[in-house]
Amino acid sequence: MIQLIRGFKDILPGEVELWQHIEKTARSLLESFGFKEIRIPILEHAELFARSIGEDTDIVEKEMYTFPDRKGDLITLRPEATASVVRSYIQHKLYAKDPVRKLYSIGPMFRRERPQKGRYRQFYQINAEVFGIDSPFIDAQLIFLLAVFFKKLSATEVKAHINSLGCQICRPEFKEALSVFLLAAKEELCSDCRRRRERNPLRVLDCKVPSCRLAMADAPSILDHLCPECSRHFEAVKHALEKFKVSFVVDKRLVRGLDYYTRTTFEIQTGSLGAQNAVAGGGRYDSLVKALGGPDQPAVGFAIGLDRFVEMTDLKAKDFAQNPDIFIAALGEKSMSMAFDWACAFGLEGIIAELDFAGKSLKSQMKRADRLGAKHVLIVGEKELEEKAVIMRNMTTKEQLSVPLDNLIKAVKDKIS
Ligand code: ATP
Ligand code: MG
Repeated sequence: MIQLIRGFKDILPGEVELWQHIEKTARSLLESFGFKEIRIPILEHAELFARSIGEDTDIVEKEMYTFPDRKGDLITLRPEATASVVRSYIQHKLYAKDPVRKLYSIGPMFRRERPQKGRYRQFYQINAEVFGIDSPFIDAQLIFLLAVFFKKLSATEVKAHINSLGCQICRPEFKEALSVFLLAAKEELCSDCRRRRERNPLRVLDCKVPSCRLAMADAPSILDHLCPECSRHFEAVKHALEKFKVSFVVDKRLVRGLDYYTRTTFEIQTGSLGAQNAVAGGGRYDSLVKALGGPDQPAVGFAIGLDRFVEMTDLKAKDFAQNPDIFIAALGEKSMSMAFDWACAFGLEGIIAELDFAGKSLKSQMKRADRLGAKHVLIVGEKELEEKAVIMRNMTTKEQLSVPLDNLIKAVKDKIS
């Protein structure tokens, strides 16, 4: 038997209801805050990610599914959404009428990582981006939105971690100080970090290897190197978060694996998922739009990892299961044919109705109604047709009553609502 690919998964009925509920809540929340949905392709030119995420990142170095299509063009299964949303913003001149755009999207991402709990090769993200606003209020609003989202969906064991990465003016100076520190500490670093030290020193800061963490305990903090403008910006973000009563910690180790991030960076972390402790991440990327050939517009965004979210929320899929409202137990050919008409009519009214097509006995049909969790059963046979009324049984209270065939759909609808 052919099985699915390692690191990929099916989301089955019984689980998917929770996903749907989360997605629905996200849409409604984001739309209430003025976000519009954007749907971007799953495949993009490989170059888009190499240029936007950066060659020296885990994603581009070793996690992307990149392959030549039949004509030899290198294409990539998107590992994240930001690059595509930025491409779209530029390509369709979404800035032309008004540079401010708030966009969200929901969908699968692909990274060839080592599969484990909370880490898959196809995973899902809810993604939000705001273009054209450099005010710190908007950074705080995004973190506030995340806090509201997590609370609304009973994911309470979370904490916002925030940091600032500075800008093109102050970051080089910090990188310099960091490099000096790293050179002295080089013997204690893991082999990945020794390589990163020269190519992307910032990333050593968030290496998870314990010996690296130890070696980095006294590393210089970017927060001591911010230029006055970045410093003011960061203070304003913190102030706004306090005003909105979002609890947060300043985490000087928090850096993003992505090169285009500037200033505010944040992560929503949880203690309930083991090593995979980041459920959402985001921040500012003021230099990306221009770097990809667009206008000089600031931007800030976040991505929520849905798979991890589903694993940590206290909500249960079964609370969102939709069982049939009605099961029609029909006996005999004539009843069966009427039952089928009714089932269609119920469906059009938004009432979920199931029936048995196999001509089984009443007992076996009742058993099936029970198995399906049907809330009511309509029983119809020759006798009922003659008397022009069906029996309606409430499966919870076991009460039975007779409902006239005349105007049946409406009568049933009134009874169950
Ligand atoms: P990590 O440090 O766990 O690898 P990341 O920094 O690579 O995370 P981002 O690129 O910021 O993650 O993506 C945002 C969110 O997407 C993460 O916080 C996480 O919840 C989720 N995510 C990232 N990679 C995976 C994956 N392979 N499987 C499941 N979820 C993922
Ligand atoms: Mg990662």
